Amino acid sequence: MALVVQKFGGTSVANIERIRNVAQRVAKTYDQGNDVVVILSAMSGVTDSLISLAQQAAEDPDKRELDALLATGEQTTITLLAMMLISMGYKAQSMLGHQIEVVTDSDYGNARIIEINSKRLQQLLEKKNIVVVAGFQGYDMKGNITTLGRGGSDTSGVAIAAALKADVCEIYTDVDGVYTADPNICPKARKLKTITYDEMLNMASLGAKVLQIRSVGFAKKYNIPVHVRSSFNEEEGTMVVSEDSGMEQLIVSGVTHDKKQARVTLTKVPDQPGIAAKVFSPISEAGIIVDMIIQNTRKEGKTDMTFTVPKGDYKRALEISKKVAQQVGAEEVLGDNNIAMVSVIGVGMKNHSGVASVMFNTLARENINIMMIGTSEIRISCVIEEKYTELAVRVLHTAFGLDAEE
Ligand code: ASP
Ligand code: MG
Repeated sequence: MALVVQKFGGTSVANIERIRNVAQRVAKTYDQGNDVVVILSAMSGVTDSLISLAQQAAEDPDKRELDALLATGEQTTITLLAMMLISMGYKAQSMLGHQIEVVTDSDYGNARIIEINSKRLQQLLEKKNIVVVAGFQGYDMKGNITTLGRGGSDTSGVAIAAALKADVCEIYTDVDGVYTADPNICPKARKLKTITYDEMLNMASLGAKVLQIRSVGFAKKYNIPVHVRSSFNEEEGTMVVSEDSGMEQLIVSGVTHDKKQARVTLTKVPDQPGIAAKVFSPISEAGIIVDMIIQNTRKEGKTDMTFTVPKGDYKRALEISKKVAQQVGAEEVLGDNNIAMVSVIGVGMKNHSGVASVMFNTLARENINIMMIGTSEIRISCVIEEKYTELAVRVLHTAFGLDAEE
């Protein structure tokens, strides 16, 4: 017997039929002798339409009221599921965030969980209830309803699993696991059996949209195994686990791509102490997040500085950089928003040399020019021309032995 937390996303509870499927799956897990806590999202599209209603009600909706509104989406699905389970003969109860005391800070729309009082949940479980909890919501010290940011019910699921010291947190979604690359552009991508928290953190930040990034950090901190799987079939998905869990280790577990970055270069910047601070302070003050930075030293006491910013902030970053260039006496500002970042990710890199050279040689063979390179302990990223993204992902996927068998 185990304590299983099952979280179902918006597409899994999109209508009554699908909620009935969820009820069946939950009941089955319970019938196998497990304690079950279910976390639900709102029906898919509901949170978006609530936001749109709020925008029609007021130009800049009050944040406290907006969170109280958005939290209603989950109230619908948990009560419907609880009713179904009860009518099927099970003991079940729905629970809102404040009822199980999910305490958060007061950052409306993006609140962080501070603590969860697991007592109430435990009491319900001891009485053999299936507990159905609203994801995405909590309340602050003053009792105001808060929400955890879009996709936040993943974090609710993992946080509740952590508070209860659950054996596993299953995240049911509309994909059947984590893939070695985006299957839409890499037909030979295959589903991973396991992936580490750190790999997942790197993948998520690079665009693999499977879990809310915050939930992975939570899972890592409390060492909660997370099973990402499909709610539409019975197949095993991908286990997100710690590095020392004895999993089979690939050198590279995935190839990701990100077309959402643009590049800015300041040429012939005087090479002096304090220059980087002068260039990047105004950018960060404007709330623009810089990802990769490269500085090349030239001969005559000058340096070129290149960095990437989100495409949406590209124009602003260019304008700011032009002002800065004038102030510091740089030659010119160049920009390029037809770039993409391709990355290979794998904890196995820590113990293997040569990953970078395989990556560079593979790109070179296809005549793909590398404009920037960035590395971390478990990731190597190259900035290339956007039009080569798909090709680069496919050849790297093959080069690192990730292709699915025919
Ligand atoms: N319903 C919320 C959203 O759409 C939370 C979630 O689905 O995870 O963002
Ligand atoms: Mg989601």
